[in-house]
Amino acid sequence: MKTRVYDVIIIGAGAAGLTAGIYCGRSGLDTLIIEEDSIGGLANKSYHIGNYPGFPNGIKGLDLMDAFYEQALAAGVQFRFESVQSLQIDKIKKSIETNNCRYESYAVIIATGGQPKKIGAIGEEKFMGKGISFCTVCDGAETKGKIVMVIGTGDTAIDQSIYLTQFADFVFISSNNPIGQLDCTDKEKLKWLPQEKIKVLWNTKIHEFCGTDHLSKVVLEDMDSKERFQVTCDYCFEFIGFTPNSVLVEGRIELDKDSGIVTNAKMETSNPGVYAIGDVRKKVLKQLATATADGAIAASEVKKYIDHLIK
Ligand SMILES: Cc1cc2nc3c(=O)[nH]c(=O)nc-3n(C[C@H](O)[C@H](O)[C@H](O)COP(=O)(O)OP(=O)(O)OC[C@H]3O[C@@H](n4cnc5c(N)ncnc54)[C@H](O)[C@@H]3O)c2cc1C
Repeated sequence: MKTRVYDVIIIGAGAAGLTAGIYCGRSGLDTLIIEEDSIGGLANKSYHIGNYPGFPNGIKGLDLMDAFYEQALAAGVQFRFESVQSLQIDKIKKSIETNNCRYESYAVIIATGGQPKKIGAIGEEKFMGKGISFCTVCDGAETKGKIVMVIGTGDTAIDQSIYLTQFADFVFISSNNPIGQLDCTDKEKLKWLPQEKIKVLWNTKIHEFCGTDHLSKVVLEDMDSKERFQVTCDYCFEFIGFTPNSVLVEGRIELDKDSGIVTNAKMETSNPGVYAIGDVRKKVLKQLATATADGAIAASEVKKYIDHLIK
């Protein structure tokens, strides 16, 4: 049987992939989205999204993603629910193998997202979204007048700890480093931390998250003495890294040191006809607003790329 050749195949139906789909479909491109799990991706996990423009009272992630899906269907986008296992991207015509099919297209948009790394302590799953967060832009404003714990001392952790002091009454930072050793690029930042609002708990790791319906305290362990102690806190922000789902193109497309796909401002990767958008790419702000912007840009570039191929 002859394999159908799509104009563009988008891998991943999160906010980035769905937006790219809407734009591709509306510009007349024959578009397929392949999704291995559920439509909506990471945003489905957000019970309340308060910073996506257009919803002054916030919106549930699931509801927002349902609306994106409806709009993609209305734009003529087709969907397959399969897991992409491998890609052949070095020729003009790209080939995509899933767990049970093979597809072809002239352009591929990688929108496979990623996951924030978790600490793995007792109670973490229970309090996810109920005090434990990975995103101060999303949940920082909720910490007004509260006590907060931040995990990590990398660039994001330190910057976000300072950011949180404008809302929270006090911010503890748990660091598994010896006294005085930050992981962030600017080691001098320690001098600038507002001592009256931030305290670093050196040489500690999180043992357990506790509370009833919402996080109310964290049990830490001193890494030398193994002694455990409690810190009362209402929110805990984990900043120990993010893992982009870029394994499909590892070794064939340029990635940064954290495995994010490197793109230019047009969302083009180092391989012609292959674009990357949303959380899977190297970027400074991983949010819905930036995922949708990436999707719109990539789709408009794909349209130009395909028109040029056809001429
Ligand atoms: C806890 C939490 C709360 C957040 N809250 C907010 C908020 O309030 N506001 C905000 O703006 N942002 C928020 N964010 C960030 C936001 O959710 C992400 O930036 C956004 O959802 C990323 O969209 P994406 O499409 O790039 O990736 P994703 O949503 O991760 O979508 C990627 C999709 O690709 C699929 N996929 C992966 N590999 C394959 C494969 N091999 N084959 C087929 N499909 C595949 C996945 O199943 C997934 O559906 C939050 C993030 C987290 C973790």
